[in-house]
Amino acid sequence: MTEVLLATRNRHKLKEVREMLVGTEFTVISTDELDASIPEVIEDGDTFEANADKKARTLAKLTGRITMADDSGIEVDFLDGAPGVYSARFAGVDGPDADAANNRLLIEKLQGVPREQRTARYWCVIALVTPEGEARYTKGSVEGFIVDEPRGDGGFGYDPHFGVEGDEAGRSMAQLSADEKHAISHRGKALREVLPLLRELTDGA
Ligand code: IMP
Repeated sequence: MTEVLLATRNRHKLKEVREMLVGTEFTVISTDELDASIPEVIEDGDTFEANADKKARTLAKLTGRITMADDSGIEVDFLDGAPGVYSARFAGVDGPDADAANNRLLIEKLQGVPREQRTARYWCVIALVTPEGEARYTKGSVEGFIVDEPRGDGGFGYDPHFGVEGDEAGRSMAQLSADEKHAISHRGKALREVLPLLRELTDGA
C-alpha cells in the first residue's frame, strides 16, 4: 500500500476519497491524522486550481510526503457562477452550521427563479504534488439544478438541494447511495483520473 497525504480537514471529503480508493493500492492519511498542529493553509486563490495547488504544494513541502488536495465547489448559472471558489464560506459562517447557512442563502437568492434558470454544477480539481514540487492536476464536474426543498440525508454540503441532471427518479445528490454518487460525481471523475498520475509519480509502487 502507498500512503498519500490528503490535504484536507473536511471529514466528508476524506470519507469520500477513502471510499473511492477501496480496492486500489493507495490509502490516504489526512492532515489532522498526520499532525493536528499543522496550520491551516489559507485558500486565497480565485480558481479551484490555484487553491488545490496551494494546499497540496504547501503540505508536500512541509511534510516531505506526496500530497493530494481537492478544491471543489458549486457554480450556479443564475448567480453568474457564484458561490464557486467561495462555496465553503458562501454565507460567511464557519464550523458545523456552515452548510445549513450556505444552503439557506442559496435558496433565498433563487427565490421565484424558474427551473430552467436553476442550472448548476459541481467542480472538483485535484492537485497532486511530490515533495520535490512536481505536480499534476485533474478536474471533474457534474451537472444539476437547485431545488428549494432539501431531499435526502446522504452526501454533504449542498447535496440535498442539488438535483442530479438526467436522474430518471428525479433524485438529489443526497438521495444517491455513496457508490452512486462516486460513479457520477465531480470528485469521482477527478479522482479516477488522478490514479494513473499517482502511479506515475510513485513509480507504480
Ligand atoms: P473547499 O474545502 O474550499 O474545497 O470547499 C468545498 C465546498 O464546496 C464544501 O464546503 C461544500 O460546501 C461544497 N462542496 C464540494 N463538494 C461537494 C459535494 O460533493 N457535495 C456538496 N457540496 C460540496
